Amino acid sequence: MVARTQQRWQTPSWKQALAAAFTDPIALLQALELSPTKLSAPIQPSPRFPLLVPRGFAALMRRGDPNDPLLRQVLPLAAEARPATGFVLDPVGDANARLAPGLLQKYQGRALLIATGACALHCRYCFRRHFPYADAGARSDRFNAAIAALEQAPDIEEVILSGGDPLMLDDTALAALITRLDDLPQLKRLRLHTRLPSILPSRITDRLCAILSGSRLQVVIVVHINHPAELGRDACLALLSLAELGAPLLNQSVLLRGVNDEVATLAQLSDALIATRVLPYYLHLLDPVSGAAHFDVPEVEARALVTQLRQRLPGYLVPRLVREQPGEPSKTVLL
Ligand SMILES: *Cc1c(COP(=O)(O)O)cnc(C)c1O
Ligand code: SF4
Repeated sequence: MVARTQQRWQTPSWKQALAAAFTDPIALLQALELSPTKLSAPIQPSPRFPLLVPRGFAALMRRGDPNDPLLRQVLPLAAEARPATGFVLDPVGDANARLAPGLLQKYQGRALLIATGACALHCRYCFRRHFPYADAGARSDRFNAAIAALEQAPDIEEVILSGGDPLMLDDTALAALITRLDDLPQLKRLRLHTRLPSILPSRITDRLCAILSGSRLQVVIVVHINHPAELGRDACLALLSLAELGAPLLNQSVLLRGVNDEVATLAQLSDALIATRVLPYYLHLLDPVSGAAHFDVPEVEARALVTQLRQRLPGYLVPRLVREQPGEPSKTVLL
């Protein structure tokens, strides 16, 4: 009994892991035995969207490799500051899709709730890197407006918890939010868009699984994994415990120059995903967010990659190639 009481007061291990994450590019490079002068492109700290990398994720990077595909996703480069034509602050039209503070609706029957602005990893290509989370109601005390709007929207059958990363909410806040969604009679499904199962696997606790399986809603979990090396042992175990819940597990990736723009990499990713019971869902063309132009893969090249992938893999292991076009009634499926 003593042990259990003590445990209750301990900071959960995922919060400890988060507190210990790398925030300094130089410290991360040192851990990888890389010198800033050996990099192929110069780094540049980015105070408004700083580096953030949990140590467990950094441990999956290859030491001494300046072109490591995981490192490339997180390292702030000077190239981010270069303006590029067509690359803008709000590339997907979020500002025009606001139903209430913290609630976006673009597509029929589905609304996206910004559960928090926080993430455990800062992806340099993030399409919401300039999103005004504070105005949008990223704080939990502002869910009232979003819930009130959902109460007035009888046609919404699915709420997508997004962000940021919704699993950055702690168990108490998440359970409270899910209880409020459970009470909305028109809802059928609760979808989570999260990167944490692979980025911060310790977040997938028994308690979290109990909260998710306690909802009356059909839970669907969409993870975000871009490269097979992101699936370390802990990530696989976390995904398998989510699979135990019986919730469908899907993956979305972003096609990124220098990360996953080769057919062999994409094929390995699909292989690794299905081994942890995750099906490929979407392969997104990069949203043209300012600061991310160096990740862009042109559409013709993307189509060629997916065509080759289809020749190599069973159909269910080929993600749909999509792009988000502001104002369209769905994601645009290219292939
Ligand atoms: C991408 C997105 C969805 C989900 O689209 P699906 O095609 O159902 O996966 C829902 N709402 C918003 C605002 C989105 O950007
Ligand atoms: S986890 Fe998702 S929301 Fe967070 S920085 Fe990465 S892409 Fe953006």
